[in-house]
Amino acid sequence: MSTRVILRSPFGDTVTRDIADGCWVDPVGDADRTLGEGYWAVPGLVDAHSHLATAELPARGHRPGVLDEATERARDALAAGVTLLLDKGWCDKTVIDLIAAVPESERPAIEAAAQMIAVNEGYYPGFALEIDSSEIASVVAEQAAIGAGWVKLVGDWPRRGQGPVANFTEGQLRQAVRVANESGSRVAIHTQARDVPSMAVAAGVHSIEHGLFLTDSDIATLGEREGMWVPTLLRIEETIAQLGAESSGGRLLIEGLDNARRLLPAAFEAGVLVLAGTDLVGTPANVASEAIKLGEYGLSNSQVVETVTTAGFDATGRSSVFGIGASADAVLFPEDPISDLAVLTHPAVVIRKGIVV
Ligand SMILES: [Zn+2]
Repeated sequence: MSTRVILRSPFGDTVTRDIADGCWVDPVGDADRTLGEGYWAVPGLVDAHSHLATAELPARGHRPGVLDEATERARDALAAGVTLLLDKGWCDKTVIDLIAAVPESERPAIEAAAQMIAVNEGYYPGFALEIDSSEIASVVAEQAAIGAGWVKLVGDWPRRGQGPVANFTEGQLRQAVRVANESGSRVAIHTQARDVPSMAVAAGVHSIEHGLFLTDSDIATLGEREGMWVPTLLRIEETIAQLGAESSGGRLLIEGLDNARRLLPAAFEAGVLVLAGTDLVGTPANVASEAIKLGEYGLSNSQVVETVTTAGFDATGRSSVFGIGASADAVLFPEDPISDLAVLTHPAVVIRKGIVV
């Protein structure tokens, strides 16, 4: 049965596409059915900071990933409209195995880091690879070879009485980026410290995770090279609730959120690819809630929709405009999500690889 889809973007353009072999093609002749009339269409929601391996935080017992559980989470994410997911690493390679085991039409497109890279005492004990920081180049090469497009560094971690401390020097981060680039991978860095975002931006790190203490100058640099920033605001708010707003860690994060609120609209204007990431707050299906949270922190409705839809496709070199030859992925909404962001949480139709989910 041939399917034609009318794709009206909330950003203005409407295109009509047919589907062949899971990809968009130019319409030819008559189709057996036509979808999309009267709907608004995006290429999908994007969870840009996900952990599919399990639903449990690393702090609670270092549970390794479980392939069946991860697969269920991936299917749920797709049903909620997530057609692209960036998995930012785990303690094992469950998600890399999932990519090989589950057909593409039954899950989002997935890019993933394999094992997170830290140093001794530089993350939850025994969870990440705990390396000698001088070996970063060889470890990044290994992890890039295992991973699916990403390497994940833990840039800083709290030490007793000191708050978050850098795990690597700027020079070491630069080596990591160089080695990852050579293998066509990108580097993402977890950072909640004051000094590490600037080091990571200067070193060319592709995606800043959390990054509440980015500076105006970092934003300008990151914007010039269209770097990514995934603030994970829901994750930060939940962490503050867990630590207590009066604890030293809580106070630091609250200060960071104030800085993020100040920077977010400017970052967007400067060309930074601000992305929405769930980071284990709920499931990846929760990414629309993170997008709405980004709106509460100062992005306009139009920017919110871009952040959770087209920006992630652009950031990873995919078509954000239903290009001919691109994977036939689309999420259809009965209302314009820009006029009502809540629409993002209830897609009417999800199409992945040309198949209606
Ligand atoms: Zn994370």
